[in-house]
Amino acid sequence: MSRKREKKKLVVRVPNPRAPVKERLDTPSHKVHRSKKQYSSSRNRHAASRRSCDVTLYRYDYVIVGGGMTAAAAVQGIREVDASGSIGLISAEPHPPYNRPPLSKALWKGEPESSIWRGTEAAGAKLHLDRRANGLDVATRQVKDDRGDTYAYRQLLLATGGAPRRLSFADDPIIYYRTYEDYRRLRALAAKPLRFVVVGGGFIGSEIAAALRMAGRDVEMLVPEAGLAARVFPAELSRHLVDFYGSKGVTVRTGEGVTTLVQRGAKVAITTSTGREVTTDVVVAGLGILPGVDLAQQNGLRVENGIVVDQMLRTSDANVFAAGDVANFPNAALGVRTRVEHEDAANTMGAAAGRAMAGPRTCHSSIRTCSSWATRPWVISTRGTRPWWIGRNRSARA
Ligand SMILES: Cc1cc2nc3c(=O)[nH]c(=O)nc-3n(C[C@H](O)[C@H](O)[C@H](O)COP(=O)(O)OP(=O)(O)OC[C@H]3O[C@@H](n4cnc5c(N)ncnc54)[C@H](O)[C@@H]3O)c2cc1C
Repeated sequence: MSRKREKKKLVVRVPNPRAPVKERLDTPSHKVHRSKKQYSSSRNRHAASRRSCDVTLYRYDYVIVGGGMTAAAAVQGIREVDASGSIGLISAEPHPPYNRPPLSKALWKGEPESSIWRGTEAAGAKLHLDRRANGLDVATRQVKDDRGDTYAYRQLLLATGGAPRRLSFADDPIIYYRTYEDYRRLRALAAKPLRFVVVGGGFIGSEIAAALRMAGRDVEMLVPEAGLAARVFPAELSRHLVDFYGSKGVTVRTGEGVTTLVQRGAKVAITTSTGREVTTDVVVAGLGILPGVDLAQQNGLRVENGIVVDQMLRTSDANVFAAGDVANFPNAALGVRTRVEHEDAANTMGAAAGRAMAGPRTCHSSIRTCSSWATRPWVISTRGTRPWWIGRNRSARA
């Protein structure tokens, strides 16, 4: 390392005693429920932060980690019970909460983008966007984000959903389709006469392939299973869908996964599991999600196919709740634990968690509502107002 670079690094590391400390009180101090011990530990942290860098300490009655549909529903749930408690929402996405299902359906059929937003800020939540919560201390009831800011809470909701499962290629150019940013990127590419390969034949892969084809593009699907949505539908229906997609001009290669993938200039070269070589312009993947359990794990909260919660959607820490795609909850009707990746789950569970956080801990009726969708042995994926897929709800397993 050059001497100049070494020096620069040193300057960055030296604490700056004059760095300003912003303490933003988003709630009046009487609203913040903290013990003396917590205050004094907070003062220590405060002093430490003053010495080292410019960080902000926020204090909220309710902190929500996550910026998806569950988080949006939770804000509404809190407001049903508590009209004035302060709510801070931390989201890794640069946009306020929005409905995810239209990203693979309605928006491609001409629904305006303005229709997807959930109006979470108008419901009275302060949004901290484009920042990832990467630290949680349940003892002091504080969350930290990747900019070094701290959020003190009275009640916390983990609505972290899931991150797309990825293929194990370093720096791959694949669009792992999940967010509004992914939609905008793919929509811009779909406006050009490019070739698309879609990896995965589940809901997301199938919907994206259909959307791209509807946009007039050449689409090839690589589906390791024997048919489309094969893990959800009966074999006959799954095979029928392959034919149906074929009739619409989508090339569906079943029993064929990706073995290697390399960017070659503007093109992507793929070798499939059958040894076939495919060259394409864009690769999109829909391979399911992995629940976002890191913060819970860091604190020793119970994790088992998602964050384990009770009937009240409370984790193994009484002040921390979890809901939506990330939560593994007890399904009273089935007598099993379930984790459900579904918009109904996000909306009903999010709202129930919000009410439970804000009100007396007696939200049994809300949880019964959660149980009712979770017990459904079928999932319905909507395309616009019409049902599109109907199949077995495998994610609602123990
Ligand atoms: C394209 C698409 C189409 C879909 N279509 C349908 C459909 O037709 N029908 C249906 O029922 N379901 C559908 N789903 C599934 C449904 O959208 C999800 O079940 C639902 O959105 C889950 O919401 P969530 O808020 O629990 O999780 P997520 O949507 O995953 O949201 C989690 C949020 O938390 C943020 N986050 C995670 N970790 C952190 C952290 N540490 N710090 C800060 N922020 C963090 C993420 O960035 C994200 O914004 C679809 C999903 C997709 C992607």
